[in-house]
Amino acid sequence: MKTSKESHKKKIILSYTLAIVVPCIILGLLAFRGIRNDQALMEKEQLRVLNEIAGNIITKTVAKLDSLETGFINISEELNPPNQLIFSDSVLDTYIKEEKVISGIFFAENNQVKLLDSDILFLPDNYFGASGQSDQYNQIRETGWNYEFRERNYVKAVEYFKNKLSVINDKTFQGEVINIIARNLKKQNKHGEALELYDQIYKEYPDIYIQNEIPLGLVSLQESAKIRFMQGDAAEALKIVNSLLKNLDESHWKISKSYFFNSISEIRNINSEADTVNAEIKKWIDNNDSILNSIVIKEKYTDDLLSFQEKADILTMSKNVSTFPSYRYRYLTNGNTNLVALMKKSENQYWGIIYNQEELLSGTVVPLLKSHASKTKFDWEVRNIQGEILINSGAVPENNVSTNISFPASLPPWSFVLYPGQKSILASFLQTGEGVFFYIFILIVVILSLGLIFILNSVSNELRLSKMKSNFITTVSHEFKSPLASIRQMAEMLEQNRVPTNERKQKYYQGIVQQSERLTHLIENILNFSKMEAKQREFRFQTNNILPVIEDVVLSFNNFMAVKGFNIEFRKLSPIPEFSFDKEAMEQVIHNLLDNACKYSGESKKVEVFTEEKKGEVVIGIKDYGIGIKKEDRDKIFSRFYRVGDELTQTVKGSGIGLTIVKQIVNAHYGRVLLESEPGKGSTFYVVLPLKFE
Ligand code: ADP
Repeated sequence: MKTSKESHKKKIILSYTLAIVVPCIILGLLAFRGIRNDQALMEKEQLRVLNEIAGNIITKTVAKLDSLETGFINISEELNPPNQLIFSDSVLDTYIKEEKVISGIFFAENNQVKLLDSDILFLPDNYFGASGQSDQYNQIRETGWNYEFRERNYVKAVEYFKNKLSVINDKTFQGEVINIIARNLKKQNKHGEALELYDQIYKEYPDIYIQNEIPLGLVSLQESAKIRFMQGDAAEALKIVNSLLKNLDESHWKISKSYFFNSISEIRNINSEADTVNAEIKKWIDNNDSILNSIVIKEKYTDDLLSFQEKADILTMSKNVSTFPSYRYRYLTNGNTNLVALMKKSENQYWGIIYNQEELLSGTVVPLLKSHASKTKFDWEVRNIQGEILINSGAVPENNVSTNISFPASLPPWSFVLYPGQKSILASFLQTGEGVFFYIFILIVVILSLGLIFILNSVSNELRLSKMKSNFITTVSHEFKSPLASIRQMAEMLEQNRVPTNERKQKYYQGIVQQSERLTHLIENILNFSKMEAKQREFRFQTNNILPVIEDVVLSFNNFMAVKGFNIEFRKLSPIPEFSFDKEAMEQVIHNLLDNACKYSGESKKVEVFTEEKKGEVVIGIKDYGIGIKKEDRDKIFSRFYRVGDELTQTVKGSGIGLTIVKQIVNAHYGRVLLESEPGKGSTFYVVLPLKFE
């Protein structure tokens, strides 16, 4: 039995697989392929959009530099060609401070490059030429030099120069002499006096250059700082260093490269030797360090700019190009690629701009990238010519699909690597093509799931019903067995004359009748059930009084059940007019309900039957005080073969068709069965029948 059920189940699943699952899988695979194809198309489209964005950013950057150069041409028309190799110009100075993307301006003429001095920290050593002193004061210098360096008689040197000071009118030489006096005082350890003089120099001669090369402002600050530091006043020393550094950072003086590096290294010494325990000192050190960092950047860049001066070929590469008024190109100095623009002034004269590429990147390219990336989601990198990442969008792109676009020759030698933004799988599914494949896919999944649910449901229903049927057969056979056994036992005893008294004999005859009545009911139930199942049962409606019908059934139960201690009370609450019903069927209804009331009474032995007429209907109530029925079982108990699964019910014999028959009969009378019940306290079944029906 079990194996045949199992093979039935297998058969259903197999045919389901063949008929639905296999075609669905094939369709699904096709749809999936469609989705993949669509995804590839979408990727292509994304890359096309990114290429367009990259082109757009490059065009805008080029346009920005172009317009900057046009603006510069306008300004330069007013300017005269400079005549010094390093020249100053206040108009260009202001201009270069405003246009951060420009790092240097030069003028090229006959293969000679003249640099604007703005932001240049130092000048090449050879710029200052030989520092031979050939003015009228040479005699004084020489005498003083002898006292100081040959005789090392600093007192005498101081005295000598102090005397001379009163007769010197030239301000430059005055400054130089005061500086020599201060130096000699310092050598005598007369620090206080030396400091006073350096203060005076800084106030009165800050922009005087000794031997055209060394600014007194710088010397005085540097010496004051050293003396303060020696005296142990680190805070003051660092404060002076700070103002010295600020001056250097702002290119206050024109100094030679070697003098500049000499000063910087002395300053670094003071800054690094100072003790950092004191909070104020620490503050100055940090402050100075940050200026030193800025200076380091400018040093490199000054070197770069200066190297332009040595490059006489700067013009040759643009000689044959006809894109003037401005021509922008990459130019190699010291192994660095610079971006340079030339603007023709006259036949052999050009103004030139050297661009600040870091600024071009952070001030123009990156903001453009960010603004595009905020609209179209993508990750980006800007790489240099070696392929190293200069800057990126921050996120490490998971996407290995990317587009790589190189910058044109009129921009730095960089490239963009753009990665399409990652979309969620669902979003990209929905976006594919017209979404058709995705919907097919979903449809298939839905069909498969519904089919599976349906099949599983019907298979399990089928199994449950067949289990119920087999239970039914077992229980029914048991129900037959016990009355038959007792009939046989009693009949045998009578036959063999083993029952002594007439009274006992009478009891036995009654017993046989009752048991056979029970059997009859059982058989009737089964026959009626199968007839009703086959829709073959016919009812014989006749107008009749229902009360005697009920009374008969109650009476026979009372007779039968009295042995078990039951007392069935019948209350007629109101008179009931005659009406049309099938007598036999109604007997069966009352019998089944009373039978249940007794069977499921548990310890209680009290059952009540009552009848009344209410609003044109007959109400027949059968009330017990037994085990009751749980809420979730109240509807199910009317289904065929259904029996409550708890222990209390299972100890009682039953077939599970009694209530099904009740319901079917009552339905045929256009009535209804109602139920009130409380587990543990008992149940009342109401049969409600209309007095009239069409
Ligand atoms: P059965 O032959 O099992 O009594 P029925 O169709 O008459 O079949 O009843 C279905 C189920 O309903 C019973 O198995 C029992 O669990 C429950 N039931 C019926 N009447 C009562 C009642 N008066 N009290 C408690 N449970 C009942």
